[in-house]
Amino acid sequence: MRFKADRKFERFEDVTPEVLKEEKVELLLCDLDNTLTLRLSKLPAETVEGWVEACRSAGTEVVVISNNISKKRVQSFCEPFGVRCIWSAKKPMSTYLTHVRELLGCEPEHTVMLGDKYSTDMLAAHFAGIRGWKVQPRKKLMKDIEDQAEDELRDQVKAIKKADKAEIKTIKKANKAAAKASKKATKK
Ligand SMILES: [Mg+2]
Repeated sequence: MRFKADRKFERFEDVTPEVLKEEKVELLLCDLDNTLTLRLSKLPAETVEGWVEACRSAGTEVVVISNNISKKRVQSFCEPFGVRCIWSAKKPMSTYLTHVRELLGCEPEHTVMLGDKYSTDMLAAHFAGIRGWKVQPRKKLMKDIEDQAEDELRDQVKAIKKADKAEIKTIKKANKAAAKASKKATKK
């Protein structure tokens, strides 16, 4: 059994029309959860729509093949883009990958499975005799972004505190000087 990916990308957006043309991909079978979106996200992101359009402009058809058992969830995500979809696909079984590929009349060498998991997506690709391209699980990427935002926020708070301290020091100094001057003036 082969768990390896033929190519690795950080995110689905990195699979550009240029990459698809260069690799002669005519059919891109695509995992849904943690590949195109977060597991619980219901609304399709605008980036997905633009990306699907870009794939089509490169002559690549996109079909979502998801293990998610909720027909409603998978359909409601894919329908706004007019993307065909399969739910309860039971990857690593390759049945649906091959079924869709044959239905659309695409050769194995021009078909790729894109997904975030070795044990389902990459293995299913292997069983189907097509290439498997791996992306980083979206949830991990989101966490990295959140962590980065948190770090930046912490730095900002630190900077504000530092600036406040400096300002307080200046005010105190000015007050002291004023008090001293007024004392001097009273003495006179
Ligand atoms: Mg997934």
